[in-house]
Amino acid sequence: MKAAGRRTGASTSSQCNRAKSSPVSGILECQGRIAIVKFCALASGSSGNTALLATDSTRILIDAGISMLQLRKRLAAIGEDLAYIDAILITHEHSDHVAGLPVLGRNRDVRATFWLTRLCEPTIAWGERRPSRIQTFQAGASFTIGDIEVQSFSIPHDSIDPVGFCFSAQGVRVGIATDLGYIPESVKFHLRRMDLLLLEANHDLDMLKVGPYPWSVKQRVMSRVGHLSNMHVFDYIMEDLDGCTANVLLGHLSEQNNHPAIAQMIADEALQKRGLGTRLSIATQNAPSEVFHY
Ligand SMILES: [Zn+2]
Ligand SMILES: [Zn+2]
Repeated sequence: MKAAGRRTGASTSSQCNRAKSSPVSGILECQGRIAIVKFCALASGSSGNTALLATDSTRILIDAGISMLQLRKRLAAIGEDLAYIDAILITHEHSDHVAGLPVLGRNRDVRATFWLTRLCEPTIAWGERRPSRIQTFQAGASFTIGDIEVQSFSIPHDSIDPVGFCFSAQGVRVGIATDLGYIPESVKFHLRRMDLLLLEANHDLDMLKVGPYPWSVKQRVMSRVGHLSNMHVFDYIMEDLDGCTANVLLGHLSEQNNHPAIAQMIADEALQKRGLGTRLSIATQNAPSEVFHY
């Protein structure tokens, strides 16, 4: 199968030839070999966020912001099953990231361990029975789940202890950075050498300014602990995106204050100016994104 994510960027690092991706859902062969890492944003946006990262032996979800019914449906749509999820990692306690968590915690079919930061975990309304399979970690800690190495890192956002994640499995690296008001140097450091980067493109500044939100909410979204705009993405691609990154998946788009075509156009312009071959995709609220295989 022909690889979709060619790397023609400025970097000449040997990492650039580490993996090729295919967007074809449900097919695990890539470049004549079996793909070993799979990623899909099952839902992305202000109404719910969940993503899947899977290897042959380990399956994890990042965030649980949709209902269990939706989660089951979307996993099934990409050939996965909630019963085989090993871990659910939480970025922060906002409802669009944890709304499904209490139900998942109560369900006997779910055998996943829940991973949250020490400060985030007490904020979760688990209900009468707090699940026993909870693992807490310090923001910034690294740990291993099955054959997936996890590196957490703090992000600037108006919640208790928000984190992003970098994952490394079988030499494939996936980064997730959504829900942050700007991209500090520390986050840029963690997002280097990714094969796939899920990056927030929450709003278009002009749309936000004339949009329906109350001024106080607009100020919050635009603040240093709010959300990334299309222009943040433009600047990041122009100045910081590693040329080795095969795929950038823009996510957490506001349905009120952004439009996929605008986010794509602005990011595409930056990629063209850089002369990068990084392939761009958009994650949506109501359906799984394309499935990336490496
Ligand atoms: Zn948030
Ligand atoms: Zn969010």
